[in-house]
Amino acid sequence: MTTEQANPARPEELSAVTRLHKAHAGLEKRLTEMGRSPADVKLIAVSKTFPAEAVRPVLAAGHRVFGENRLQETELKWPTLKADYPDAELHLIGALQSKKTSQAVALFDAIQSLDREKLAAKLADEIQKQGRHPQLFVQVNTGDEPQKGGVGLAALDGFVDRCRRDYGLTLTGLMCLPPVNDVPAPHFALLQKRAEALGLSGLSMGMSADFEDALAFGATHVRLGTAIFGPRPKV
Ligand SMILES: *Cc1c(COP(=O)(O)O)cnc(C)c1O
Repeated sequence: MTTEQANPARPEELSAVTRLHKAHAGLEKRLTEMGRSPADVKLIAVSKTFPAEAVRPVLAAGHRVFGENRLQETELKWPTLKADYPDAELHLIGALQSKKTSQAVALFDAIQSLDREKLAAKLADEIQKQGRHPQLFVQVNTGDEPQKGGVGLAALDGFVDRCRRDYGLTLTGLMCLPPVNDVPAPHFALLQKRAEALGLSGLSMGMSADFEDALAFGATHVRLGTAIFGPRPKV
């Protein structure tokens, strides 16, 4: 990092690697204060919209866990990166069309957007066919927002039950994305409570702006985009 031009007045000019180190340090500090072990929380570096060249230095610095929200972008960007870093772990954090399930199971190590029965059925088929077992998180629409993916709160228990019983899926945890204009903490508290009741240990919640709150409610996976890669280009 000798080339780093750390200018605190212009944080957008910090490198992703510097931001990554800061994020790790912040995460460890908060977890230690809470009496939680830093080893219990995965930092997912959300690299969506950033090109492979922007991701490569973060891989070179030793980070291995990344999040992408689009299958097509991942298919274009990651094969060359994976060739150099085969142990990179990819999390799908965006909607998955059921007709793309085969590609998703082949490419991702975790799928965090399981939210409907058709997808559960397709995932079960592909997992069987490919012998690959990505971790599965059920996305929960904690704000019951009509435009957003995720299982509604009222349907959650039944859905988890059918994933397990009818489709034989092993679920890792729950994931949520609170409504942008809500205070996030109550959503995190709710997700924690529901996961515990369902016997699910994984809690993917918390993004750059609110991950500290999420940690306080037991997050096991935080998804940091801006905090690592800086502001995303507007599309
Ligand atoms: C983009 C995205 C993130 C990262 O958001 P930041 O605010 O940049 O940290 C996390 N989770 C999901 C589902 C996303 O789509």
